[in-house]
Amino acid sequence: MGLWNRALLTTHVYDVLRRKKSLWVSWIYIHRLHNVHFWNAPIISNSSWIWRKLLELREQVRPFFLSYIGDGKTVNAWEDKWILLGSLSSLIPYRFFHREGFNKSSKVEDVVRRIGSNWPQSWTIRCPNFSNVTIPTLQNDILDRVSWLNLNQQVRPFMVKEVWEVFLGNQETVFWYDLCWFKNYVPKHSFCFWLAILDKLPTQVRMAKWLPNGDSLRCPLCSQASDSRDHLFFQCDYSNAVWSLIRTDIGCSLDGV
Ligand SMILES: [Zn+2]
Repeated sequence: MGLWNRALLTTHVYDVLRRKKSLWVSWIYIHRLHNVHFWNAPIISNSSWIWRKLLELREQVRPFFLSYIGDGKTVNAWEDKWILLGSLSSLIPYRFFHREGFNKSSKVEDVVRRIGSNWPQSWTIRCPNFSNVTIPTLQNDILDRVSWLNLNQQVRPFMVKEVWEVFLGNQETVFWYDLCWFKNYVPKHSFCFWLAILDKLPTQVRMAKWLPNGDSLRCPLCSQASDSRDHLFFQCDYSNAVWSLIRTDIGCSLDGV
């Protein structure tokens, strides 16, 4: 599935986690999750396409959802990530959690009330990084909410754009970036240039794939071949002559290119 579609689907994961008041989310909790946490729900072969895709997305998106603790009443203490270190289920074996009197349904409110301001000693011995994490303070008049973390683990408002940037990862800037996007650029020109660089212009060669008799299309300038990006800009005799005149006019030489 494409990157953008996965980013869009993550919105549904967000809706499930924050229990958005919608018919679809209510239906999911009644018919799909029952008493199972979303992070643990099994992928069943006869599920709908969208539900399977959401479950398949979990591994990729789970590290980036952070529950911000208000009253702690709705956040699952074992499965949800409510400290930056990770979910407790990813940090300590379940027996360590259970030994302190908690179970898989325990909420953050239960945990924080019982352990106070110090992590249980057995947890810090098992995972010393707990020592660097402050236990959230319960705020009775504030509801818990689900946030999104960027690649630097900074809390961001949940937006598809933020998800998309995480999926994209830390990629190097392409060398032609400044040619396309610069101060005072004309959006239409830059967009067309961007499409040309990526070879995504709707040229005849590309349109031939979805048009009947597409192969018979010919360049309207020279009628010698189907036009493509390379044909239009570099190979067509007619457009070459035009480009040559323009280059002469503006003093642009392609020598050495
Ligand atoms: Zn041509």
